[in-house]
Amino acid sequence: MKAIVFEKHGAPEVLHYTDAPTPTIRPSEVLVRVKACALNHLDLWVRRGLPGVPIPLPHIPGSDVAGEVAEIGADVTTVRPGQKVVLAPGVTCGKCPACISGHDNRCRAFTNLGYMIDGGCAEFVKAPEVNCMPYPENLSFEEAASIPLVFQTAWHMLLSRAELQPGEDVLILGAGSGVGSAAIQIAKFFGARVIATASSQEKLDKATELGADHVINHKTQKIKDEVRRITAKRGVDVVFEHVGTATWDDSIASLTPGGRLVTCGATTGYDAKLDLRLLFAKQLSLMGSYMGTKSELHSVMRLVAAGRFKPVIDKIFPLAEAAAAHTYLESGAQFGKVVLTV
Ligand SMILES: [Zn+2]
Repeated sequence: MKAIVFEKHGAPEVLHYTDAPTPTIRPSEVLVRVKACALNHLDLWVRRGLPGVPIPLPHIPGSDVAGEVAEIGADVTTVRPGQKVVLAPGVTCGKCPACISGHDNRCRAFTNLGYMIDGGCAEFVKAPEVNCMPYPENLSFEEAASIPLVFQTAWHMLLSRAELQPGEDVLILGAGSGVGSAAIQIAKFFGARVIATASSQEKLDKATELGADHVINHKTQKIKDEVRRITAKRGVDVVFEHVGTATWDDSIASLTPGGRLVTCGATTGYDAKLDLRLLFAKQLSLMGSYMGTKSELHSVMRLVAAGRFKPVIDKIFPLAEAAAAHTYLESGAQFGKVVLTV
């Protein structure tokens, strides 16, 4: 099969469009003919290499897959060859206490398609049967592929971790990112007031179209000052973080007493300082969040099929141009998802 393969970590140029063996499936797995694979920031980290994460080489990246079932293992009963599917990115053991309690994103064996195992930047990918999600027939393959990772991540952050309530104020950083554009829609759907940040007027206009009630240009405005103004000095109940060092101080300063900060990433750096007096005196909660559960993704996909959540695609590249797609994603110019079509 044709695939995007890298044999060493580095710049986008390490990605090669080449031949690779078609995966062979186990009895509990399905082989999926990939039609579209959406990119995530995770793809950039995986390509560059992460300290302490021995990604097997050569490697096929890509976590967000939409396609058709090509072949099923002997034990597979819930999908048939020819059926359209979206794949849940998270692959877990399915047997441990975390998995059987539904917290499969806490499984010690957790990985994503395209992370410690080969992913969907290829003509075929294999995945466990339980990763097959119902296909939302109202969406193209490119649109469907742009949903899973960012929507399940934003859902888990806002609902399962921060327990967002109707009427609360939420600050969503980086509205132009995939996870930010998903978070705006989820927070609005559950009745929150959304303040979103982005780096240009064009992106702020798109954030408003998605439902943001207030927008902040973080290039020209100070986030914490604008939050203070918008909330009449009160601050927000929830901060949706994934930016890291560049926004951390403003994020903490933007919280109202009793506020919750939830983070799933640190695209600008891992180092953050915290004045512990603020933590206890303002009774803040700081929460980490990682991906989401398959059950949460089922909830997301139902709402997607009902037209309540919309995919946000910025640009589509052919699979062979994955390196150019990585370069584009790294530039930060996008609003929403960058997708490869296969
Ligand atoms: Zn497990």
